[in-house]
Amino acid sequence: MTLTPSDKALVPFVSVDHMMQLAHHIGLERMIVQMVDYLEQDFKRWALFDKTPRVASHSAEGVIELMPTSDGEVYGFKYVNGHPKNTKEGLQTVTAFGLLADVYTGYPVLLTEMTLLTAIRTAATSAMAAKYLAPKSAKTMAMIGNGAQSEFQCLAMKAVCGIEEVRFYDIDKNATAKAARNLSSSGLRVVSCSSAQEAIEGAQIITTCTADKQYATILTDNMIGSGVHINAIGGDCPGKTELHKDILLRSDIFVEFPPQTRIEGELQQLAEDHPVTELWQVIAGEAKGRVSGEQITLFDSVGFAIEDFSALRLVREAIKGTEYFMTLDLLADPDDPRDLFGMFTRAAS
Ligand code: NAD
Repeated sequence: MTLTPSDKALVPFVSVDHMMQLAHHIGLERMIVQMVDYLEQDFKRWALFDKTPRVASHSAEGVIELMPTSDGEVYGFKYVNGHPKNTKEGLQTVTAFGLLADVYTGYPVLLTEMTLLTAIRTAATSAMAAKYLAPKSAKTMAMIGNGAQSEFQCLAMKAVCGIEEVRFYDIDKNATAKAARNLSSSGLRVVSCSSAQEAIEGAQIITTCTADKQYATILTDNMIGSGVHINAIGGDCPGKTELHKDILLRSDIFVEFPPQTRIEGELQQLAEDHPVTELWQVIAGEAKGRVSGEQITLFDSVGFAIEDFSALRLVREAIKGTEYFMTLDLLADPDDPRDLFGMFTRAAS
């Protein structure tokens, strides 16, 4: 049955299964390209969004976060966790779900899984940043940290930036083998490496996407030559970073929302007033991205609510006229809006 999300009291819900079917139906790389388009639209109208650093609840094991924003017409939020120890227990490091609501009525208009969608939106955001910041001639990327996000990151760089070769490294050889296997027929040339140093050889784009709740040093200063673009995704929490501070001091740093990145990103290692460029300014043509072949550009990615908002907008449009959602009886809908109690008592019979 083909459904159309129309009845305001019934909320379209996209399950994990439906999200997978939707992504296969559109085609993953095509969906990533579409996502970049939605992201660029929203980054260009950055000023009109409600913006706040995400609301984080930290524990010894991880973090649970709420990421809200609104463009004045639609409100969105994502619930997301980050628990690096989870994979040892057969659970994922990151899981998520999210919601869009109509600002005029306050009624939800979409509820969806966002674990898969976060991987797609994070990959699309990385590729969008690289489109503006990486050397135009980039054909090779290093992918350090070969967990849940990694294959999506590589396919996004292929689809958006024309990357042809990916060089994988992870401290866990099984993770590298898994990623290499998953991308064996992707059209990318896949090279498995035994150190981060080996992985970055010849790479113009270096993506770090490791999960460890500590100040880690995945890349040291002597490893980084001039002219590369670094896409640092894994350091996204207070006390959790991936790059040696000296790399930051040699790089031009681009961020999503400075008040959040200064708390959560690689930036937490630098002075509070260290100069950064907001990525939206580059995309809107208000600031320069890469200006020279020698420059080291660093996208200090932590993930921001507006990216999830773009992803939710895309899904809301994409499911229209399809079978890739069900409707949820999530909102009470009494015939007389003030007679909630009457609706409740009638339910007894
Ligand atoms: P994951 O647990 O599935 O994978 C992480 C991988 O990193 C594992 O395979 C692990 O073995 C590897 N690793 C850990 N330490 C390493 C090291 N020193 N060198 C090389 N590899 C190492 O996690 P995931 O879902 O892929 O997420 C990775 C990170 O990205 C997490 O920290 C997560 O919070 C972050 N993340 C950021 C964004 C964003 O928008 N910036 C979005 C999603 C996830």
